[in-house]
Amino acid sequence: MTVSLGRVTGYSAAERAKLDQATRLIGNVLNSREFRDAVLGATFDGKPGFASETRSPQQVYAAIRAAKENFTSAADGDVDLNVGLESFSWFQRSTVGYTTPSSDTVTTNRRFFSGFTPAEVAGHLGHEWLHKLGFEHDFKATARRPSSVPYELGELIETLAKGPLTPLS
Ligand SMILES: [Zn+2]
Repeated sequence: MTVSLGRVTGYSAAERAKLDQATRLIGNVLNSREFRDAVLGATFDGKPGFASETRSPQQVYAAIRAAKENFTSAADGDVDLNVGLESFSWFQRSTVGYTTPSSDTVTTNRRFFSGFTPAEVAGHLGHEWLHKLGFEHDFKATARRPSSVPYELGELIETLAKGPLTPLS
C-alpha cells in the first residue's frame, strides 16, 4: 500500500514535517505483518469482528487493502489523504479533528496536533481515513465504541507506529 497526500492546507513548514513523518508511519503500519495479524485476529463480544460492523475481520482487512475512499473511484491500494489544519473555536476545543461523509478532507485541530507525536498523528489520521472507507462508530462514548473499526484500528496504528515492524512479504 502507498499513502498519498493530496491537498494540504493550513500547515506550516514545521507542521508539514510532522505530517510527512506521520504519513510515512501510516504506510509502514499498513504494510506490516503486525497490522494484518491484529486486524484478522480482532474480536468483539467474544466473536471475531468489530463493534458497529457486520463485516468479518477478513472483509475489513480486504477493504483496507483496497483503499477505496468514498470520494475516489479506484480501489488502488493507495491511501488518499487531503488534510487541513485549523485552530478550532472555543466551542470545538475538545475535538481532535473530524471529517464528514460528504467531505474528502480530514480537518485537524492545531491545539491537539501541536502536542501530538508523529505516531499519534498517524493514529488520528488513520481513524479519520477509516471513516472515508465507510467504517463507523457510535457518536457517544459508549462501552463498545473503542472496539469499532475507526477507534480500535486508529489506536492500533498509533501503537504499532512506535515500534519495529515486519514488512509483509
Ligand atoms: Zn470517528
